[in-house]
Amino acid sequence: MEIVKNKNIQDYTTFNLPAIAKQFTTFTSIEELIALLRNNKNTPIKILGGGSNILVTQYVDALVLKNEIKGMELTSQDSKYYYIKCAAGENWHQFVLWCIEKNYQGIENLSLIPGTTGAAPMQNIGAYGVEIQDVFYELTAVDVETKSIKVFNKKQCKFGYRESVFKKELKDQYVIIDVTFKLNKEPNYNTSYGDIEKILVAKNIATPTAKDISTAVIEIRNSKLPNPKEIGNAGSFFKNPVITHTKYANLYLKYSKMPGFVNSDDSVKVPAAWLIEQCGFKGKRIDDVGVHAKQALVLVNYGNGNGQQLLELSENIMDAVQRKFNILLEREVNIW
Ligand code: FAD
Ligand code: NAP
Repeated sequence: MEIVKNKNIQDYTTFNLPAIAKQFTTFTSIEELIALLRNNKNTPIKILGGGSNILVTQYVDALVLKNEIKGMELTSQDSKYYYIKCAAGENWHQFVLWCIEKNYQGIENLSLIPGTTGAAPMQNIGAYGVEIQDVFYELTAVDVETKSIKVFNKKQCKFGYRESVFKKELKDQYVIIDVTFKLNKEPNYNTSYGDIEKILVAKNIATPTAKDISTAVIEIRNSKLPNPKEIGNAGSFFKNPVITHTKYANLYLKYSKMPGFVNSDDSVKVPAAWLIEQCGFKGKRIDDVGVHAKQALVLVNYGNGNGQQLLELSENIMDAVQRKFNILLEREVNIW
């Protein structure tokens, strides 16, 4: 548990932008974490997972603790569900593949999302019509202040669209240690989203398995999303804004091509990528940062950008969307 001073953490984030942490170390157990918190009482703490949802904009004046707690296990089962506990430092996609192999079903649509399992509840990760709140049972976390261990049930996590209590009122107050999921014994798949169905039909798969769905999702993602190993990015930079039905109807009168997905409460989710594209930012490059040419929701580092430039670009996008559509975009990425 050696603490390294002024550690270069550029390679620890998928944006791969210049980043220095005042102090840095890793932890592999809850005991190590608690000891680190006790020994560094008055130091600001930041938890790092896979770094796939962080934009570092300045010197990180904190002790950065990289979560490397490992392990996955079946803890119990009933007639309908398997209860699977996964340590926070496990790679999310490897966990998904492990569950598929064991026939624990329900997270196949979340294949290939980068990062760790511990960060998954932070923003209630979601893709292709599934969010982790759909399969979440409980999580264990350590209170940074008191060092006590607390179990959060689903209600206490206050999950929302790319949101949870840990991203809002409890921001930076808890370190998630493990997450328990309630996974289906019987198939209950969601194949209606995007091109999943199309791919299954093209492969003549009438009764898909979780593995088939995972493979289809991986195929779609590989064809559409920029790989951070090739070009620095953190996935969707902004959340898709949710507006009232009335506001959507008024905008639709002016912009008849504006896409919208009606939620169960009658609010409407508008793809942020469309709004950004309409403001002329798709493919735009400023210095060494920019908006991806195929995916307007993904901001990128072409290699030699910096966090301030990227933050500024995001501000310009937010201003433009606000002026044109009177919609305030919210960043999904965590700013450090
Ligand atoms: P990090 O980036 O390391 O951390 C994110 C935040 O969580 C930070 O504030 C950090 O302090 C905090 N944190 C991390 N671990 C813990 C912990 N154990 N306890 C407390 N706080 C913690 N997201 C989606 O929802 N759906 C997608 O489909 C999706 N696709 C993506 C595709 C690409 C190419 C990329 C680059 C990103 C994508 N993302 C997606 C975003 C990202 O992968 C997820 O948000 C992921 O859960 C982040 O995990 P991480 O371990 O990398 O978190
Ligand atoms: P897409 O399928 O081209 O869809 C564009 C947008 O329209 C998405 O943002 C999606 O909202 C919405 N949408 C599409 N079909 C929908 C439906 N049937 N019902 C409700 N909403 C629908 O998006 P994409 O960029 O290729 O991404 C595919 C999936 O991966 C999406 O679920 C996306 O959220 C997820 N993803 C997330 C990140 C991230 O960093 N957060 C990065 C890459 C991909 P939703 O986003 O709400 O699904």
